[in-house]
Amino acid sequence: MDSELERLIRLQKLDTAADEARRVIAAMPDRLGVIQAQLERTRQDLADAKSRLAASQEARRALEKELSVIQARLTRFKDQLMEVKTNREYQAMQKEIETAQHEVQGFEEKILERMLEADDLTAAVKTADTRLAEAERSTAAEQKALEHERVVLEARLDDTARARQEIVAQVPGDTLAIFEKVSRTRKGIAVAEARDGLCVVCHVRLRPQVLAEVRRNDRVIQCESCQRILYYVAPSGGAEAPA
Ligand SMILES: [Zn+2]
Repeated sequence: MDSELERLIRLQKLDTAADEARRVIAAMPDRLGVIQAQLERTRQDLADAKSRLAASQEARRALEKELSVIQARLTRFKDQLMEVKTNREYQAMQKEIETAQHEVQGFEEKILERMLEADDLTAAVKTADTRLAEAERSTAAEQKALEHERVVLEARLDDTARARQEIVAQVPGDTLAIFEKVSRTRKGIAVAEARDGLCVVCHVRLRPQVLAEVRRNDRVIQCESCQRILYYVAPSGGAEAPA
């Protein structure tokens, strides 16, 4: 194969690799955002669990306050019971005491329910807390891995840029101009293999005369449809085309 075409193929491989590296680097803020959003959700889960526990404790304190009011009333009724004069008054007071005792029982049950609920909610807070600690550790590790990946890709971009410069210096100006122009207008792909009579990128069938010229691999032939610079690889795997 003509060394000029080989250089263009190498140039294309470098450009494609650089594009891919830049694409991965450009997607990194999104990946970082996903990682951080996951951590934020775990943090929010803990905050929610804590606020559910606080609300339950608050409700329990309110019940205890109401209970103490009723208990005070009950004590008052019991004192008054000693001072009643008639049987009828005594029975009325007994009735009040029974009602108050019933209410006390009701509040005590509700308070017990809240205490059991608080046990569950405390366990949930502990679980959420453990999960957050784990998430913080894994997030830090993922961020570090991402940063390492970025450093590696940027180093690769530097290597690619250097290799590109070396090749560019060996390609005639008019050929390079064709390459750069097609690359600009064709999403960074300026070189295409001709295989089975087709341009493998745009899939348009090449005219036999064009195909015959491409198979010689000795000069720049552009696809008549997509303008990409065509090259041919013999099916045997050998790089040389039949003359
Ligand atoms: Zn084409």
